[in-house]
Amino acid sequence: MGLVVILFFFGLAGGVVGRIKGSSFVLWFLISACVPFFGLLAAVFSRWDNRELRRQCPGCGRVLKLHDAICTTCGTELEFPDVAIASEASVRARALSSQPR
Ligand SMILES: [Zn+2]
Repeated sequence: MGLVVILFFFGLAGGVVGRIKGSSFVLWFLISACVPFFGLLAAVFSRWDNRELRRQCPGCGRVLKLHDAICTTCGTELEFPDVAIASEASVRARALSSQPR
């Protein structure tokens, strides 16, 4: 019984870490609960999805992650772009700081 509680808290911690990083809570909850400790480590060291630079697909205009090599929507092969779009996190930070008090 104690093990279930421990797994649950590992899952919870992993899920929260995943959520903060802009990833799925459920996904990281399951990973951390199935592979306790290592799942949580993976969540901590995973990429910050919402801090990645982004770029726009020239084929369909969809906004993708900068490191994507192929558009998941239209299948266009993507060259490394000259211009990147700021990450979600930095856009949000800028919007917050420019608000009048
Ligand atoms: Zn596309």
